[in-house]
Amino acid sequence: HISKLPDVGTTIFTVMATLAKKHRAINLAQGFPDFKMDANLIDLVTSAMKNGHNQYAPMPGDLGLREAIAKKFDLLYNTSYHPEQELTITAGATQAIFSVISAFIKPNDEVIIFRPAYDCYQPAIALNGGKTVSIALASPDFKVDWNVVKAKINSRTKMMIINTPQNPIGTIFSEADMLQLQQITKETDIIVLSDEVYEHMVFDGKKHQSVCLFPDLKSRSFIVASFGKTFHNTGWKTGYCCAPKTLMSEFRKVHQFNVFSVNHPMQKALAEYLENENHYLELSVFYQQKRDLVLSLIKDSRFKFTPSKGTYFQLLDYSEITNENDVDFAKRLTIENKLASIPISVFYDTKIESKMLRFCFAKKDDTLKRAADILNHV
Ligand code: PMP
Ligand code: GLN
Repeated sequence: HISKLPDVGTTIFTVMATLAKKHRAINLAQGFPDFKMDANLIDLVTSAMKNGHNQYAPMPGDLGLREAIAKKFDLLYNTSYHPEQELTITAGATQAIFSVISAFIKPNDEVIIFRPAYDCYQPAIALNGGKTVSIALASPDFKVDWNVVKAKINSRTKMMIINTPQNPIGTIFSEADMLQLQQITKETDIIVLSDEVYEHMVFDGKKHQSVCLFPDLKSRSFIVASFGKTFHNTGWKTGYCCAPKTLMSEFRKVHQFNVFSVNHPMQKALAEYLENENHYLELSVFYQQKRDLVLSLIKDSRFKFTPSKGTYFQLLDYSEITNENDVDFAKRLTIENKLASIPISVFYDTKIESKMLRFCFAKKDDTLKRAADILNHV
């Protein structure tokens, strides 16, 4: 067989976005904003280009940007990452995740992930010969039982991937979760890959629990982040990762031959933009208003929900409406009702009973109102 990924098809995000386009449906499927990003940030890119930053950036990224990120870690989490040795700018979180996995996973190594899991983890593990060990979280609260996690750990466990706030379910890890994670990985060589792309979208006054807040955990963790999520420009594909020096130097061995470095003028612009902390601190309030708008508009519909605690996604339970599986219902809703969403069963590797779809609320209020109108008539 020539395929290295025989069981992998086209990602659900492409499938649903294509279907939405074909049927002129409102696209609450793929996660990206339908409103404009800040024009000031665009101006910073054109200035960087006019100022001549059009050749290769340094391999680990523009130093000014790495310094601005280090400052953010200090401000938000009171912790330090050395800009020269412990931070690398990447082509979005996706490349960071792929390169972390490639740098450490050897054939037969086991990687623990929590399902429903974002869909880029498992193929990267498989391409490196690793084995994905899944822990399925169940609705409605998707709580992690850390005793179950502990029972999955053995001498082959090389890595654990966590994602808080978690896409597609909109849950967050509490401080107690993080302490348990720290405890069960203590005195192991397990590397924790912490996907924190939604760190600035945490609702109801809760605090984002980054791995870097827990010193022992920080010492064996990578954090990956995405500017696309934070600054409403997913098409720029810029992000970063950070880790203690010894881990980061292994990461860079892969990164330098994977992309070498990423888009230079955008890094210059982001470095300047990041200096104003309001550009990210106001995000939770901004998205909580959007979540609350949608939920208030559909409160009398036949969809049931638990409010999203983080991310810009909301799960809706359609079990009162139909017995169809979520893939069929998501397609029918797109074709017949002109509203696209994402079925969540595709993020599991076992059959699930729950009937839920994921809707993205990173949209103009007008888009959300039109979508709510449809949901109220299903
Ligand atoms: N991780 C999660 C949980 C995501 O939702 C996404 C999609 N934005 C990514 C990683 C990839 O981010 P990027 O677009 O920066 O590659
Ligand atoms: N992260 C986005 C989402 O969850 C999609 C990114 C992609 O299309 N690969 O919808």
